[in-house]
Amino acid sequence: MLTEELNSIYQTMGIDKKVLEYSQEIENNLKERFVKIDRIAEFNQLKVLKAMQENHLSDIHFAATTGYGYNDIGRDTLEKVYADIFHAEDALVRPQLMSGTHALTVALAGNLRPGDELLSPVGKPYDTLEGVIGITESRGSLAEYGITYAQADLLPDGGFDWEAIKAAITPKTKLATIQRSKGYADRPTLSVEQIGALIKFLKEQKPDIICMVDNCYGEFVEAIEPTDVGADLCVGSLIKNPGGGLAPTGGYIVGRKEYVENAAYRLSSPGLGKEIGATLGLNAPLFQGLFLSPTVVASALKGAIYAANLYEKLGFGVLPNGTEERYDIIQAVTLGSAEAVIAFCEGIQAAAPVDSYVTPEPWAMPGYNSEVIMAAGAFVQGSSIELSADAPIKPPYNVFFQGGLTWPHAKFGILMSLQRIYKKGLIRL
Ligand SMILES: *Cc1c(COP(=O)(O)O)cnc(C)c1O
Repeated sequence: MLTEELNSIYQTMGIDKKVLEYSQEIENNLKERFVKIDRIAEFNQLKVLKAMQENHLSDIHFAATTGYGYNDIGRDTLEKVYADIFHAEDALVRPQLMSGTHALTVALAGNLRPGDELLSPVGKPYDTLEGVIGITESRGSLAEYGITYAQADLLPDGGFDWEAIKAAITPKTKLATIQRSKGYADRPTLSVEQIGALIKFLKEQKPDIICMVDNCYGEFVEAIEPTDVGADLCVGSLIKNPGGGLAPTGGYIVGRKEYVENAAYRLSSPGLGKEIGATLGLNAPLFQGLFLSPTVVASALKGAIYAANLYEKLGFGVLPNGTEERYDIIQAVTLGSAEAVIAFCEGIQAAAPVDSYVTPEPWAMPGYNSEVIMAAGAFVQGSSIELSADAPIKPPYNVFFQGGLTWPHAKFGILMSLQRIYKKGLIRL
């Protein structure tokens, strides 16, 4: 009975019976997988809860501060809660960290000095970091401040090139930046365990090297975080995983006290550090979003796995594939034609709670060498913990998508993408 009602509301919402039947079979086969994801969410939920309880989180912490923001006990408690969850000494969690890129910039610029060298032992970093580091010439880059950069690429199979890493470490090497998620590159995402092995190796070569992990899209996917395996700093965006969809803006930097403080002196001012920064009433959504984050991440993961299986069995290339372990929430699908990519994104958009009536179109976005199409009907602008997709319009016609605040919404969005592709006659069911 319930199934009938469900099917009928799906059909009312525009999903054909054929698409429903095909997808139901896929979903049935994912039950065990989903149970495992729920277990990790359960663990992480308790981890977050414990940190909130132990720090005596209270109503008073949701009060707004203005001006300098001196004595913002809500902000200070939020930072203690983050530090505890990450088993770290200290944290900087601020709405003034405007994005993931900004948080990474602050962590890097706060801890590097002229003459130091930055090393990426995991290949090319995320696109926006190229300008920050100065890989591509950019005003205000670290390179302009006399900070050099070295890189050891991953091996063709995605493994670490130990020899190349060893050779890249010099007396100047001050900080290693390790990107956990593949982002939009075609390399595997690193597990926390792999990151631990890499950090151990780096410290063996140079005990005082600062190991920083770009943790974007990785938070709460596993039961441990990079700070549990030796990372000195862990950095991310609050409009991705740890904001749980409720954080309207912000970023975080957690890790060793000295390094977090260095970042704070860069974000505010030398001499001021963590002492200032009004939170303007944002503490409540930052706490509540963090509280929801483990289950939100689980929803996004289920969506990614569901999509991988749905598209893989239709013969499309998917990365990660339908069965492998997940270390972040990003899913890539190779759709093979511009038409299919556009249909996919139209489907995600049409399934959104916000702006579902608009049609996304490819456009020449600054900084890209092809047109890009984006689907995002989000409550928070640019939020990618909410169901969202984007794709460069060029071969092999990959679409990258991530997020989903609830599993039913992630599922509906993916069904709608498939529906659009089906309606255009690009697949047969
Ligand atoms: C999203 C992301 C960033 C940058 O974050 P923005 O908030 O988009 O500036 C950096 N690294 C990785 C791996 C990311 O996924």
